[in-house]
Amino acid sequence: MKRKVTTADATVTQALEEALKRFASNHHGKNASYIPYLASVPSQLFGISIMFCDGTHAEVGDTDYEFAIESISKVFTLAHVLDEYSPQTLRSKIGCDPTGEPFNSVVALELHKGRPLNPFVNAGAMATVSLIKAENPQVRWEKIQATYNAFAGRELSVNEEVYKSEAASNQHNRGIAWLLQSYGYMYADPMEVCAVYTRQCSVSITCQDLVTMGVTLANGGVNPLTGKRVLEAKNVAPILSEMTLNGLYDTTGDWYYKVGLPGKSGVGGGILAVVPGVCAIAAFAPPLDVAGNSVRGQLAAEYLSRTLNLSLLH
Ligand code: GLN
Repeated sequence: MKRKVTTADATVTQALEEALKRFASNHHGKNASYIPYLASVPSQLFGISIMFCDGTHAEVGDTDYEFAIESISKVFTLAHVLDEYSPQTLRSKIGCDPTGEPFNSVVALELHKGRPLNPFVNAGAMATVSLIKAENPQVRWEKIQATYNAFAGRELSVNEEVYKSEAASNQHNRGIAWLLQSYGYMYADPMEVCAVYTRQCSVSITCQDLVTMGVTLANGGVNPLTGKRVLEAKNVAPILSEMTLNGLYDTTGDWYYKVGLPGKSGVGGGILAVVPGVCAIAAFAPPLDVAGNSVRGQLAAEYLSRTLNLSLLH
């Protein structure tokens, strides 16, 4: 696939440079450590990218460093599943409401008799993977991979080291997968689904990939760099509502208050904000707050939203 980018104007570039300068020395937060590989990623890495719907872009810092997509993958698996089912089916089988609990909460599942409530907590993400129409895990994985590649406009790969590290330490997610099965919200073999989910979290991306994936949502489902439609326009709004309500787990409200944009974070340190019809912002900085969201990534998004007047609430 061929990607073509040109540079955004000077005001935008200056805003990104200022964000990098302001927050690079912020050392709050900690790398995720429950997945051993993530603890070993250099904490000082920091990259910020912005891309507009016409494909123009700007970037500063470590934007070509490859990191694990982790939970941001949930957005794009959802995009694929929305192509196979109606948004109504998704709402009834999974939901679109916040759980108010951490992303891997078993308590939240128990409280709602196994209904995951949304596709961005681990339970909902695994239920989403299990809905993909596939006769075996290979086909399930290939569908996910093809979707991510179309969003990124290039062939992404799995970081096998991350996958091994996650697969060896994902007992909690396996427990969640079995619980879903026991309540009737798991639609394929739970252990196969958990393995595919773990693999999707281990996909390697850069900030440049992430911003391209995000701007494809901002652009109504057409990747501005390849010119290809990767999801139906009608499926963008359901994805953005999930991001608005659940993108940063139990601190999504806090994020929306400050940034005013649909967002999604991952414990690999990536974070994405989408401005419908305008642009996407992607940032990468490994240290996380207690909810599992990149500290510097959130600060950069907040600064850019304010400086470039991007909030949907203004
Ligand atoms: N792979 C991670 C997990 O399942 C993803 C979580 C996240 O990024 N919030 O726990």
